[in-house]
Amino acid sequence: MSLFLRLLFRNRLAGFGAVVLGIIVVMALVTPLLPLHPPNVTNTANRFLRPLAEGHLLGTDHLGRDLLSRLLHGTRLSLAVGFAAALIAAVIGAAIGIVAGYAGGRTDNVTMRGVDMLMAFPYILLALAIVAALGPGLMNALIAVAVVNIPFFARNIRGVTVSISHREFVDAARLSGLGPLRIILTEVLPNVVPVIVIAMSTTVGWMILETAGLSFLGLGSQPPQADLGSMLGEARGALITAPHTSIVPGVMILLIVMSINLLGDGVRDALDPRLRSGALARPMAATLVDRKAPAPPARTEGLLTIDDLRTDFRLGRRTAHAVGGVTLAIRPGECLGLIGESGSGKSVTALSVMGLVASPPGVITGGAVRLAGEDLVGAPYGRLRDLRGNRVAYIFQDPLSTLHPLYRVGDQLAEAIRVHHAVSRAEAGERAIKLLVDVQIPNPRARIGAYPHQLSGGMRQRVGIAMALSNDPDVLIADEPTTALDVTVQAQILKLLDDLRRDRGLAILFITHDFGVVAQLCDRVAVMYAGRIVEEGPTQEVLDAPAHPYTARLIACVPELGTGRRRLEAISGLPPNVDDLPPGCAFAPRCDKAQPECRQGEIPLEGGVRRVRCLYPETHLPETELEAAP
Ligand code: ADP
Ligand code: MG
Repeated sequence: MSLFLRLLFRNRLAGFGAVVLGIIVVMALVTPLLPLHPPNVTNTANRFLRPLAEGHLLGTDHLGRDLLSRLLHGTRLSLAVGFAAALIAAVIGAAIGIVAGYAGGRTDNVTMRGVDMLMAFPYILLALAIVAALGPGLMNALIAVAVVNIPFFARNIRGVTVSISHREFVDAARLSGLGPLRIILTEVLPNVVPVIVIAMSTTVGWMILETAGLSFLGLGSQPPQADLGSMLGEARGALITAPHTSIVPGVMILLIVMSINLLGDGVRDALDPRLRSGALARPMAATLVDRKAPAPPARTEGLLTIDDLRTDFRLGRRTAHAVGGVTLAIRPGECLGLIGESGSGKSVTALSVMGLVASPPGVITGGAVRLAGEDLVGAPYGRLRDLRGNRVAYIFQDPLSTLHPLYRVGDQLAEAIRVHHAVSRAEAGERAIKLLVDVQIPNPRARIGAYPHQLSGGMRQRVGIAMALSNDPDVLIADEPTTALDVTVQAQILKLLDDLRRDRGLAILFITHDFGVVAQLCDRVAVMYAGRIVEEGPTQEVLDAPAHPYTARLIACVPELGTGRRRLEAISGLPPNVDDLPPGCAFAPRCDKAQPECRQGEIPLEGGVRRVRCLYPETHLPETELEAAP
């Protein structure tokens, strides 16, 4: 709750709306206690007194009634009617929506067509027709406004319910034998309530306006009872001669509706978890760069070199150091494996290379990324766009979410080509077919017309690879491309990547959490823990004699086929929180060899071809190697 309020008031405008609305509501609540003139007593001798007149702060209306008193009483009534209408519409509309969405089939069809019929009439016309049928009066106006708003709630809530009632937890509840009513109340409703609140907060203002509209037309509150709409309606005749009689209720309506809308927007933003984390905020086209120090010199040679790269996520007052000084180099034709537990910063490292980390909240705070010597950190956006997908290409983990669901894969491949090359549509299409041949998709001429959902997971991943290869890149960054695939498809894809780098001299940065995959494909491997490289070296050497205790434990976690029963050594404890890393070795809290020195000061990554960031490595690296430069 306090989080909700904090988020709400972080939005200045919403805070302003809350304050204004709060004042108005409090005033409306205490109105009967205030020493006001009676609102309905006429005094024709005092007609049209100006504001600030003796005894009448806001003046009087055409019958000499005190405007301040009428305004407060009218506000009270308008607010009550507006909120009541919103509540009725929300409850009935949500009930209809939930039942229709949950039941589906014929029930859904019949109810929603009924709702559609209500929606087919213009809003105000329908309200007028209802009031005409029921007779004028405030209660009938309330009913009319509630009824015309029911379809809005029913439609919204039905949509949400449909998507929720197909989720696994609802299936699980059904399988456990719960009845539909229980499921609706315990599984569906809690997930729908935020949507109802959001819809209500954004429509209350409307409903107050609509009620005022009906009263303005003389169909709502009846004289002498005042509400804001009827006050406006009565003042219409004296709009020119005594404008204050219109301005007073008009300004009040404006304040109420504006403050409710501002507050409603704030409530919606604070309740929606995606907005809360800033995920729906449009990310910038390239990651924000805020380098405190000049770019460090390149440590080694390579086609792609990363030197002391630091990427933070600035989340409110917290800063997560997702990448804390990573140094890597990849030569043409080489495959470097980047391995580590989930959350260790592998993806953020990879995305930082082309400035693809979402900003906000991501910021590159230091280091350099060089492609053939050119520093890309802070390069102009135009330059990055030139290189992205052209010289440096990515393969992402989940091919279904990276392919556009509504376009044929051939068109998407052709688009990727045409972004960087001025070729005709037909030519791009031909190239797309050739790419599908390269990634060994059977029957490519037919497959080119398929939509992503018509392909299997392995094929989609191959399309993703084909797309990455479409512009013949120099560097390929593959972020766990085979994690979602079964072992046979995985083996094919690894073979494909291996052939490609041998044939085309592609440099590959291969991210994974699987040592088995690294062993098959990579020449060298770098082990990442809590945003830093803890060990690096030729794959076979690292596998045979891991130096960092973390690497050793990771390797011990890999099951082996055909070696009989062996106890798998899970690593106890959890990866550290990158908001708040301990001094010294980040792995020390989980390491059974840790000494007091391990928890102090910076521990450097030492060595040459093989490097390790550990004071007490499992294997002492040979002295000669320490001197050898890579
Ligand atoms: P992995 O090694 O599994 O690929 P990531 O590089 O994706 O891990 O994440 C590294 C750290 O950065 C994690 O602690 C993660 O929570 C954090 N992180 C990643 N993306 C974001 C984001 N958009 N906002 C905030 N934190 C993020
Ligand atoms: Mg990742």
